[in-house]
Amino acid sequence: MTTTATGPQPLLGDRRSLAQQLTLKVFLLVPFAALIAAVPLVWGWGLTWLDVILTAVLYVVATLGVTVGYHRYFTHGAFKANRALRVALGIAGSFAVQGSIIFWVASHRRHHAYADRDGDPHSPWLFGTSPTALLRGFWHAHMGWMFSRDVTNYQRFAPDLLRDKDIRVVSRYFGVWTAGSLVLPAVLGGLISWSWWGALTAFFWAGLVRIAALHHVTWSVNSICHMVGSRPFASRDKAANFWPLAILSMGESWHNSHHADPTCARHGVLRGQIDIAARTIWVFERFGWAKDVRWPTPERLARRRVAG
Ligand SMILES: [Zn+2]
Ligand SMILES: [Zn+2]
Repeated sequence: MTTTATGPQPLLGDRRSLAQQLTLKVFLLVPFAALIAAVPLVWGWGLTWLDVILTAVLYVVATLGVTVGYHRYFTHGAFKANRALRVALGIAGSFAVQGSIIFWVASHRRHHAYADRDGDPHSPWLFGTSPTALLRGFWHAHMGWMFSRDVTNYQRFAPDLLRDKDIRVVSRYFGVWTAGSLVLPAVLGGLISWSWWGALTAFFWAGLVRIAALHHVTWSVNSICHMVGSRPFASRDKAANFWPLAILSMGESWHNSHHADPTCARHGVLRGQIDIAARTIWVFERFGWAKDVRWPTPERLARRRVAG
């Protein structure tokens, strides 16, 4: 059960231009290169406590923006948010540099509508089950799918967001939020340490490395969590719960439960399954910013449990 619109409209919208394609590659590959470079640089380069704190804070804000905002709220409607929270979640999610809200939501709704079948934008199972097919599938699901010039049809998969003026504006300024996501750590690092060097190291760690780390955590949900893990709930696809990523993904790696009940606000529904995003929604509910939250109910869970 997804919130996807169905109809005679085509699966894909306009193709990306060459310039868009080039920009996309730069924003996906430069942070990735920084992440790889970061490992040996830790020993010889500046990494201050300020960098660590800025990186952690921005990681949490952007990850919650994607998990609570882009995913559970905008894609699946797991709760209702007031206008300020709605806009804040849209901007925080954009700070993850994973595309505009409308792009992300349309792609993800298509993923649920066709999960692990033809039409899924990022299934690891599209090429077969031999070792080489799975290796190719892993790459495609993790990162390769974004290098395709095909873009999901927004009219078909995100008509509700296209009708929303606030969200159209937040989505249109995605480039500004991306720039902010890189410039803000540099400005904070520079001002707090009162040095150009502090600005540079904060830009590197809390900007580039943080974005790349978050990219790979989110992409692992598409790749690893459709390949490896436990499947306590019945879903029509290969989505699995992969516990090692629970904390870093803030609950998104309980992906089998999510595919079994996509509109549920909590993904880690079983005992001991930490779900930081669900806890955050609970806090928003306490403050009165979120309402009509779709919390799990024992009856719904029991119905979706795999027999035996
Ligand atoms: Zn999935
Ligand atoms: Zn989902």
